[in-house]
Amino acid sequence: MQDLKVLSPEEVKGLDEPRISPSQNQSEYSKKIYLESYGCQMNFADSEVVTSILMEQGYATTSNIHEADTILLNTCAIRENAEQKIRHRLQSFKPIKAKNPHITIGILGCMAERLKTQLLEEEKIVDLVAGPDAYRDLPRLLEEVEDGNKAVNVFLSREETYGNIEPVRMHTNGVTALVSIMRGCNNMCSFCVVPYTRGRERSRDLDSILKECTQLFESGYREVTLLGQNVDSYHWQNPETKQSINFAQLLEKVAQLTPELRVRFSTSHPKDITNEVLHTMAKYENICKNIHLPAQSGNNRILDLMNRTYTREWYLERIQSIRNILGESCGISHDLIAGFCSETEEEHQDSLSLLEEVKYDFGYMFSYSERPGTPAEKKLSDDIREDVKKRRLQEIIDLQRIHSSYRNQLMIGSVQRVLVEGDSKKSSAHHFGRTDNNKVVVFPKKEEMKGEFVDVIITHCTSGTLLGELIN
Ligand code: SAM
Ligand code: SF4
Repeated sequence: MQDLKVLSPEEVKGLDEPRISPSQNQSEYSKKIYLESYGCQMNFADSEVVTSILMEQGYATTSNIHEADTILLNTCAIRENAEQKIRHRLQSFKPIKAKNPHITIGILGCMAERLKTQLLEEEKIVDLVAGPDAYRDLPRLLEEVEDGNKAVNVFLSREETYGNIEPVRMHTNGVTALVSIMRGCNNMCSFCVVPYTRGRERSRDLDSILKECTQLFESGYREVTLLGQNVDSYHWQNPETKQSINFAQLLEKVAQLTPELRVRFSTSHPKDITNEVLHTMAKYENICKNIHLPAQSGNNRILDLMNRTYTREWYLERIQSIRNILGESCGISHDLIAGFCSETEEEHQDSLSLLEEVKYDFGYMFSYSERPGTPAEKKLSDDIREDVKKRRLQEIIDLQRIHSSYRNQLMIGSVQRVLVEGDSKKSSAHHFGRTDNNKVVVFPKKEEMKGEFVDVIITHCTSGTLLGELIN
């Protein structure tokens, strides 16, 4: 079943379609890599690390698959349809491989980690399989394939953070960038494959994060998004001073680099987000007032089965603290799963009533997809019929759309500070940017303002986009 989300037009493209790395470092003699990336922001950030590692070894990237020596797919395994998409894509490479038998085809990321050598057995076209912690080994793996072998590295590390690798920015507008601050996840949400595909949680060292953010600012970037599966459990200890840094402290240090660099982060976990983080957000104008706080369900029995380790009441208390400390205008978004194992109609109604109670700005909504090897697959039954899942998901989406419109309408008449990210996808006569609370704003362009902060009065909206006029 297709997962559906309420997205602005600007966002739809970024999330639903793979990203193809642009051509870089082209020279007559270098071998060319074609890299397509699927899934979450972590994967897109990882592809920038992969490119950096390969370019360091003299490879070039190309956006033209027909001139590639190697095709790499950086994959997602979070839901079954994400993997199906990759399998279909592999089918489409068959004519290319038939024409050029020497081309190398490699699978990277979460699907590689989940299926390991099984992938080589099932998909004969694949030559190379590398998990998310094996990217430093890619040059060697590629050589192994050149020597006529199949190559696999799915070793999961307890230390690897790629902290010292300077990512090559590829899908960049030159204004906003992703900065990975940690990898893996120690939570065991029963539906989720991430702990098995990305391994144990580890935090990247503070100095390398600050260095990367400083370099980004110096090269013209004006916004960074600090990324992790559960950023609130960021924890790093200086090996010399033994001083420990938590997420609130990291956030403060990044915010203090310069007031002209906006800071965002994702994802927060309801059990871990602290008032210290919320107060740090309130203290610095350049920390964007927007929190992505996945709920997954509004019902306590289901939350317990999901092993989310919080209750609906706890979750709502966290929402109240966000509103109290950061104000009503703080953007709040969620993830919600429809049709988890044994979910009754009443329990589904609890998810809808959670939406009513919070009135989120935005949501990512999914129907439950059983993943092999997860606790839910082992202990629970995926017993909700597909048509029921689909109907419940649609009800959730319809309600979220109403709330997204409602929250956008509240902003009409207000003046918003917008960081201009570029031209609107629909018209080069319009700019597009984002507000502090992460709403897409489209407004008529007067002059080239990419990368600038401008004030825009909001005049109209849809459920996904604010429309406005430049002031001053
Ligand atoms: N770490 C984040 C968190 O704790 O919420 C999110 C990680 S996951 C990459 C993104 C979202 O995918 C989850 O929040 C969940 O809603 C959804 N998801 C994960 N596993 C799923 C599954 N088996 N079926 C449907 N949706 C799933
Ligand atoms: Fe998956 Fe839960 Fe970890 Fe998020 S917190 S990545 S949903 S196990």
